[in-house]
Amino acid sequence: MHDALSALQKIRTLYVQVPFCPERCHYCSLPVSLQTERAPAYLRALFREKKRLMEREDLSGLETLYVGGGTPTVLPLPHLQELLEELQKGLPPLAEITVESRPDTVTPEILHRLRSSGVTRLSFGMESVRSEHMRFLGRTMNVLEPVRFLEFVRNHFSGFVSMDFIAGGEGFSEDAFLQEAQSLLAEGLDHLSLYPLTVEEQTSLKGRLRRGEISAGTEDAAGRIWERIVRALSSMGWFRYEVANFSRSPDTVCRHNHLVWQGYDHAGIGAGAHQRIRSVRTINVRSLVSYEERLFSMKAPFEGRESLDQDERLLEILYTNARLSNGFPLSWLSSEDRSNAIGGADFSDLVEEGYLDSRAYSSGRVIFTEKGRDLLDGLMGEIWSRLRS
Ligand code: SF4
Repeated sequence: MHDALSALQKIRTLYVQVPFCPERCHYCSLPVSLQTERAPAYLRALFREKKRLMEREDLSGLETLYVGGGTPTVLPLPHLQELLEELQKGLPPLAEITVESRPDTVTPEILHRLRSSGVTRLSFGMESVRSEHMRFLGRTMNVLEPVRFLEFVRNHFSGFVSMDFIAGGEGFSEDAFLQEAQSLLAEGLDHLSLYPLTVEEQTSLKGRLRRGEISAGTEDAAGRIWERIVRALSSMGWFRYEVANFSRSPDTVCRHNHLVWQGYDHAGIGAGAHQRIRSVRTINVRSLVSYEERLFSMKAPFEGRESLDQDERLLEILYTNARLSNGFPLSWLSSEDRSNAIGGADFSDLVEEGYLDSRAYSSGRVIFTEKGRDLLDGLMGEIWSRLRS
């Protein structure tokens, strides 16, 4: 395992946080600002952090750039173009450049410019296919028929297209969503993510929950709906390559996230961004003001820094790989060079109970079945406690 962990210590991905949005959604706990006039100062700080990163780290193995947020496409076009140009300066040619977006922030001109600026993939936060659900989520934009919106994007952008949706909450309809997902697959949407609604601290949904305006069981119900839907998506032909992520084919997975989940070192810049490089995990300050102040006074923007020992890093990597459809090698659970682990790991009881794929297990891989994926956290906790006993 030691060799496998060492091989993963290479930065393959760079995430860039652009924390501006047209409005704040009721379920969102991310640090976002609605004041896009603040973008020039923020971008200056961001470019300083990128320079700092390039001076300290070897980015020659970088494969992907992910510009997320926030909603990067809410920036005025000249700033968006400047951002994409500056980010790519000095980096090796990249296999994938993703930009996150919302349907109500793109025009034909923006889509053309994104493509000509090197963007290969757009990821749209659609969130819902019904107006009542959209209002519950706190989005004022009109619901767009995803299939028609896909056609519009395709007319102006030739890269891959992904759409994110949220399952659960008032106004959500399982049937309506599945119908759209079927049509989107038929129309060749490249990638789809579906997350269950969660009620985070410091969100307006949490406030509504405390005041009793929404049901206390909202999150649990969303989880159950999500479980039913992800199985239905697999049955209709979507390739479930990660617990909540589906692609049209193995060629259209999100390469950036896939590399992160596989356990490669990942760099991240921007307010609230986090990264893990050589077993050191850092998280940047969330406040835009503090982020800019730190960078302009030549200080590191970290508000948290944690060194992971080998077990902590292994645990993190096992968890993320367990979420993937191709799992991880059984040898990662062996005792070699782990003084406190059991000798010759045996998890055949989990195969017998239907949590691990038996064929994969026989050929030396740990892959969770659909049943196992539903209980992933508990099962990984069990595997980890056996390793440490
Ligand atoms: S658009 Fe996304 S990042 Fe912005 S407030 Fe809504 S959920 Fe949060």
